[in-house]
Formats: sequence, structure tokens, C-alpha cells
Amino acid sequence: MTLKDQIIARIRQCGPLSLADYMTDCLLHPTLGYYTTRDPFGVAGDFITAPEISQMFGELIGLTLAQSWLDQGSSAQITLAEIGPGRGTLMRDALRATRNVAGFHAAIDVVLIDASPKLRALQAGTLEDYPHRWVDSVADLPDQPLYLVANEFFDALPIRQYLRVGSGWSERRVGVQGNALTFGLTAPNNLDALAHRLEDTIDDDLVEVCPEASPIITTISQRIATYGGAALIVDYGDWRSLGDTLQAVRGHKSTDPLADPGQADLTAHVDFELLANTARAAGCTHTKLTTQGVFLERLGITSRAQSLAKGLAGTDLDALISAHRRLTHPAEMGNLFKTLGLYPRNATSPPGFDL
Ligand code: SAH
Repeated sequence: MTLKDQIIARIRQCGPLSLADYMTDCLLHPTLGYYTTRDPFGVAGDFITAPEISQMFGELIGLTLAQSWLDQGSSAQITLAEIGPGRGTLMRDALRATRNVAGFHAAIDVVLIDASPKLRALQAGTLEDYPHRWVDSVADLPDQPLYLVANEFFDALPIRQYLRVGSGWSERRVGVQGNALTFGLTAPNNLDALAHRLEDTIDDDLVEVCPEASPIITTISQRIATYGGAALIVDYGDWRSLGDTLQAVRGHKSTDPLADPGQADLTAHVDFELLANTARAAGCTHTKLTTQGVFLERLGITSRAQSLAKGLAGTDLDALISAHRRLTHPAEMGNLFKTLGLYPRNATSPPGFDL
């Protein structure tokens, strides 16, 4: 039975699904989910992420976290964590780049969190030269300083969508018509959680909510506020989301999110305002939202590219130049992708951010 057949049977029995339930099934169904069954990255896959574009990305993230560790007094024991590490490339590049930061490798307990057993196996291969381990959830992160990165993780978390009707909200749900999945709407309800969105929306505007994001940010921020550390969050999105940002990507092309459940990557833009407010409520300070292009330039990506370029010629040199452009240029990932830093109230910000 395909995942689509299973979802249709479920809807026939129990009624339409929230978009979040639909996304969870599509992405993480134990045997048929998108992340559970494949390696989606790279030219042969469905999409390519910053760490897969160039080693420079992971190197600069690693050095930023190590600088923050130095700025906060070089604690002897810390967690170096990544949520949603994909192939493990970012962490490998971060670890290689920080090898010569005195005392850093002796201090770190490298902890990975990933829902996909298939990707965990890939991470084990990529990171075979470095001690590391997995925990199931951010709640299992040790009670000690936490230095964490999440690249393109929050966009993969399931969202719910609501359409404004007067002072209420109709939820967009996934139902069935004939043998096809279709979107439908519930009757409008008043929702406390969306009260603040009555200020900046009008009838027929669509807003998105990511229910899993806040508990994750709360847990991370409490660790950082209590024990020290920093979190770097990199993703596409903006300060406040408005409108339908759900997208399905398969084979580097955008496709209908309801057409082939489990076969396409489903993501939504990240609402960074929600992450920042949640972090503040849990005791952290946050940076301003900073574009990826500006962040990487400030961290010195251009001089890193120049030094890598010295040993290269021909197509390898072209590839490096194009990777630098892809990561930083405003027309490529430079402006669409944003970075947010979280850190303790009395500490200095990690480098690279707008404050
Ligand atoms: N950071 C990587 C991968 C991004 S793809 C990169 O930049 O290349 C999203 C990653 O998050 C995948 O590794 C996926 O398995 C993981 N993931 C998705 N939903 C998750 C969840 N709910 N909990 C933990 N990991 C999740």
C-alpha cells in the first residue's frame, strides 16, 4: 500500500487531517516517509543545502561556535550539538576547522539529533573520525553549556495553516475527493494563539503556525540561559510569516504538495519572530535577523575562498567561485536564507550577526 493510499484510508475513517499531521506522515512515516527512506541531498537527490555546496559553510559555523566558547570563558565540558544534521557534512567541516582551537576538542561532547534512521547511518559514516553520539530529542541534551547549530531544520517541521475569516480562523485541512487529496477549510473559530495576528492581517490572509518549533527553542534556550552557550539557526523565512509558504520539491523542481506523499520534500518558511520571542521568554538574548550573505561575509568567507582558490585551477576553481556566489549572493541564497543567534543575557553575541 502506498503512503497516499494509507493517508486516503485514514482520512476516510477519521476525517480530514491538519496540514501538520499530513506533513508528519509524509516526512517521517516509519517506513514510507520522505526522510526515513532516502538521502535527499545533492545533484542526484531533490535539493542541495549550504553545507553540501561548500565546506566553507560548516567551517565558518564551527569557528563561530568555537569563538563563542572562547568568549564565554572556555568551559571544560560542553555539548556541541546539531539538530537535523542531514549527511553530517556541516558537523564534519566544523570539527575539522576547529581542530586547532586549543582545548576545544577536548571540551566537546558531540551530540546529534535526527529523526531519520537512514540519515543517522549516513552521519555515522561522515563523522567516523570524530567521537559523536545521538539523542532522541533536545530534552535529552546534557545539563551543561550548549553550542548548537540547526541548518534547514526548522523548515522541515510540520505547520498548520489558518485563513482569516472576520475575527476568526478557518484551518486548512487535507481531505479526499474521489481518489485525490485536496485542501479544504474548517468552519471559522476564534483562536487565542492567533490573537496577535488580528493586528497585521485582513480577511482571506493566510497565516502559518509551527507547533513543534516553540518547545524545541524553549528547551535549547533554557540550557543556554542556565549553563551558557549559543545557538545558530539558519533557514529560509523571515521575521514574521504571512501567506502560504508550503512547498514541495522533488528532483530540484517544485511540485504539488498533495500529489505524491512521501516522495517530495515538504517545507515551509520559518517564522523567526516566533523563535526569537520564544528564546527571550526562556531567558536568552537573540541577535537581529541577519541575512546569510552578510553573516558569511562578516565571518570571512571571501578570504577563506581566496585561500582555497590558491591550490585550484580549471573546473575546480570555477566550482569554488560558484559555491561562494551561491552561498552569499543576494540573488542566490544570500538574502533568502537568514541567521539568528541565541546566547545568554550577560554574554557577548557570537560573531557575524547584526545586533
Ligand atoms: N542540516 C542538513 C539537513 C537539512 S534537511 C543540511 O543542511 O544539509 C532536514 C534534516 O532534519 C534531516 O536530517 C531530517 O532527517 C531532519 N529532521 C526532519 N524532521 C525532524 C524532526 N522532527 N526531528 C529531528 N530531525 C528531523
